[in-house]
Amino acid sequence: MTITVDREAGLLASVPTGLLINGQWQASASGKTLDVHDPATGKVLASIADGGSEDALAALDAASAAQAGWARTAPRVRGEILRKAFELVTERAEDFALLMTLEMGKPLGEARGEVAYGAEFLRWYSEEAVRDYGRYVTTPEGKNKILVQHKPVGPCLLITPWNFPLAMATRKVGPAVAAGCTMVLKPAKLTPLTAQLFAQVMQEAGLPDGVLNVVSGSSAAAISGPLLKDSRLRKISFTGSTAVGKQLMADATHNVLRTSMELGGNAPFIVFGDADLEAAVDGAMAAKMRNMGEACTAANRFLVHESVAGEFTAKLAERIGALTVGRGTEAGTDVGPMIEQKAREGIHALVTAAVADGATVLTGGDVVAGDGYFYQPTVLGNVPNDAAILGQEIFGPVAPVTTFKDEADAIRIANSTEYGLAAYVYTRDFSRLLRVSEQLEFGMVGFNAGVISNAAAPFGGVKHSGLGREGGSEGIAEYTTTQYIGIADPYA
Ligand code: NAP
Repeated sequence: MTITVDREAGLLASVPTGLLINGQWQASASGKTLDVHDPATGKVLASIADGGSEDALAALDAASAAQAGWARTAPRVRGEILRKAFELVTERAEDFALLMTLEMGKPLGEARGEVAYGAEFLRWYSEEAVRDYGRYVTTPEGKNKILVQHKPVGPCLLITPWNFPLAMATRKVGPAVAAGCTMVLKPAKLTPLTAQLFAQVMQEAGLPDGVLNVVSGSSAAAISGPLLKDSRLRKISFTGSTAVGKQLMADATHNVLRTSMELGGNAPFIVFGDADLEAAVDGAMAAKMRNMGEACTAANRFLVHESVAGEFTAKLAERIGALTVGRGTEAGTDVGPMIEQKAREGIHALVTAAVADGATVLTGGDVVAGDGYFYQPTVLGNVPNDAAILGQEIFGPVAPVTTFKDEADAIRIANSTEYGLAAYVYTRDFSRLLRVSEQLEFGMVGFNAGVISNAAAPFGGVKHSGLGREGGSEGIAEYTTTQYIGIADPYA
């Protein structure tokens, strides 16, 4: 079904355009606004308040003032607000999906998938809110007692990227609300509308004023800078590029902040000679093409055993070559635009360099002429192991394929990156899976699975892919601090 212009306009008109500070939607202190564009057309979708340093500090004032009361709010109450928010997001799934497609470009079907995935963090943490256990034990000497309790870490700065505008917000807001933290959320300037609508839904769900504040703006550093210098802030949770994450980690030392860093990836997709090749190609389509390849978990390097490389690559090229590129709102679209012109140029530069290094273009390989930032779904064969495209995040619909000789070779190549987020392994041999997984320096491994993200699972990386985990029972621990109370012998 193709979405009508009226439906788009109606939805856009319903999205709050102000900054959310202490429960009030308001203009920025500067009075400036920020335009949000549709990457499929380049046209302006909406203008929202352009927040800056003064607004960020006002948001932290509100978060600080709300912190003590929110920490004392019953976990059940916090959980029920999250449960209500899950229901409201689910009821408005079509609105959230369309909004994401408009501001980010992903096909509507994928946007619907993100709504379901993103909403699940609200439901999952509504359940976790009442299950954050401490402990009470006798010391080994048998006299004194050890009481351990978890407390909310305090006001948090949450910074999210543009590629999953809803899920990256719910993945942070869900556990922070459950743990009893207050927040300043700073969405990416390219896709703030989804976060604005989500914040409104959190208000409707009953979240008290000041618990969640939202400051979007054209200068991320103007928002984060003063907050990181303010001792009332106690935590930063960031999802984005490794370069920015490293800078924020350095800045976070000033007030010795708790940090959670979900950074870049360079996922190997390893296909062993015994793999079910049809399943591997299905998995490759999901791991590579989901979100147009603009995902931190996107398969970035296809490492295929030399015995099956020809067959695998031909099947992959056939499937990828058959995909339909178009505006995400149009029926039948498989692959939407890249987020912006700069991103598309970067992808094309990597493809051009790989071809100059000897790679073969099996399908695609170029930009799509016309409006928007579209790039042809591409498969590159015979990519040399030292090609730049294998060493950095492509963040686009390009699948470079290279080969390996044996298991040790596959592990060595897979680990030869500073990143360590997701890896994928296709084999029919479970012992091999366990052996290889133990040696892979990655926070997550997909076993015969091309999509592994789940609200109930601990998502996160090692090495330059970050610190901390989002999702699962691990996710709430990122927002709590541990307090130990040593109790004298009650029999003395
Ligand atoms: P990015 O440029 O690092 O931006 C991410 C967020 O940081 C945005 O909100 C951005 O704001 C903000 N930001 C940029 N510079 C900043 C600064 N100096 N101080 C404070 N905040 C700053 O990354 P992106 O291009 O949006 O996202 C793509 C990256 O995110 C990829 O590397 C991808 O792998 C990674 N990612 C990781 C995960 C994960 O879970 N590991 C998930 C999704 C994405 P503005 O956009 O408003 O400038």
